[in-house]
Order: sequence, then structure tokens, then C-alpha cells
Amino acid sequence: MANQKLALIIGGSRGIGKAIALRLAKSGFDIWLTYHSNHAAAEETKKAIESTGSQCSTFCFDIADFTATKEALGKASETRVPDCLIYNAGVARDNLMVWMSKEEWDSVISTNLNGFYNIMHVLLFPMLREKRGRIVIISSTSGQIGQAGQVNYSASKAGLIGAARALAREVGKKNLLVNVVAPGVIETEMTKGLPKEKILPLIPLGRFGQAEEVASVVNFLCTEENLYIHGQVIGVNGGLAI
Ligand code: NAP
Repeated sequence: MANQKLALIIGGSRGIGKAIALRLAKSGFDIWLTYHSNHAAAEETKKAIESTGSQCSTFCFDIADFTATKEALGKASETRVPDCLIYNAGVARDNLMVWMSKEEWDSVISTNLNGFYNIMHVLLFPMLREKRGRIVIISSTSGQIGQAGQVNYSASKAGLIGAARALAREVGKKNLLVNVVAPGVIETEMTKGLPKEKILPLIPLGRFGQAEEVASVVNFLCTEENLYIHGQVIGVNGGLAI
């Protein structure tokens, strides 16, 4: 039987998105999760979600593609409107600005930032019509304080913070709460190759974060009934940015 609540996790098949999907499933949400190309990971996550007793549907498309996004989620959102939308998908293509290719710049901006427009274009109107809901956007410490070698990524993640703040001002009166979660360095495939010995001294907690530590904050923002947090950026970074 379907749960009463539905959460849509954009980029929910691996890493942080997977942890968010599992955490929300345990909180009693059915899950729609989207991913790009890793079918095996999506299938494994779907099975793990279903083992909690929640329903799970998967959607495979490139969020950088406006038409594909509309085709994948347009019809689905006519049948059921998510109560919570987690915009989590993102990519990094690091390089020093002086060497950065146009392709490295464009691919990161079009996935991380234009993808946000593409998703909102499909989902915002139905969510507004419901006059309730939560939107959580996953940015990054890099978007808050900047990171050398990540001018493209930092720009995209800072752009999401600006977008979230403006959106929060637009939709607050419709009881749609919009917040940003900005993780520091979290142990996922994205951060596998990072030089731990150089980064750890910068983190007061002295360790990388776990995906579940981001998921618990997202879960709070999605499930807490007494919530007056709106248009805020919540760092989950072990003190990397204070
Ligand atoms: P990840 O393990 O690489 O997972 C990324 C997820 O996004 C996957 O589900 C992937 O699908 C999906 N995705 C990527 N590009 C996509 C596209 N063009 N269209 C649709 N889906 C796409 O990443 P992560 O480390 O969990 O990071 C998740 C989010 O947190 C990202 O926005 C990242 O920028 C942010 N973040 C991460 C860290 C960190 O330390 N890990 C720190 C700060 C912020 P496939 O599996 O099909 O590729």
C-alpha cells in the first residue's frame, strides 16, 4: 500500500542522495528517485528502499536536458505531487581556472544550475497548487566560501544558494518551505580521490562526513512539523566553514 507522503530525490541513486532516500523511506515516505546512467546503483537503492516497506519508482534522465526532464517527470507529477523535493544531483569537473576548458565550465553549470531550472519548471507549479511542501537544495561549502580548483563548481553551488533565497521569498506564502543544505567533504565516490592528509587539518572535527549525516538534516527539514526555518543555508561540514 502507498504511503501518504511522497519524496522526490533528484540524484537519489548513489552517495548522499541514496542516504537521503533511505532516511526518508524510513520516515514513511514513498520515494521517487532520479538518476543519470548507473542503472545497477539505482536498482540496488530501489530494493533497499522497498525493504523498508516504502514504495519506490526510478526515473532515468539527464537533468541538464530540459526536454528529457519534462518528459520524465511531467506525466508522473500529473498523477501524484511530491510533498518534498530534494534537489541533490550534481557533478564536479575540477581544474584551475587558468586551465579550465569551456566543456568543464559548461558541463558543471548545465548540470548543477540549469538542472535546477529544468526540475523547477516541471515541479514547482504542481507543488504550489498543493499549498504545502518542502524543497531542500543540496549546495556545498564550496558555494559558500569558494574553493580553489572549483571555480565552475563553486559558481554553480553559490548560484543555487541565490536561487533558493529568491525562491523562498516567492513561495513562502504558499506554505512551501525552501532551504539549502551545504555539505563539506562527505565520503562518497565524488570525494574518493581527494588528498585526505591535506584536507583533514582544515576540518575541526578531524574527519570527513558521512552521507547519513547530511541525510539526517534533510530528514529534519522534510519531516519536522513545527518548522520556522525558511530560506536558510545549513552547513553540514564538521566546522570546515565557521
Ligand atoms: P555522487 O555520489 O556522484 O552521486 C550523484 C548523483 O547524482 C547520482 O545519483 C547520479 O546519477 C546523479 N547525477 C549526476 N549527474 C546527473 C545528471 N546529469 N542527471 C541526472 N542525475 C545526475 O555525488 P555525491 O557525492 O553523493 O553528491 C551529491 C550532491 O552533494 C551533489 O550535488 C554534490 O555536488 C553535493 N556535495 C557533495 C559533497 C561531497 O563531499 N560528496 C560535498 C558538498 C556537496 P548516476 O548514478 O546515474 O550517475
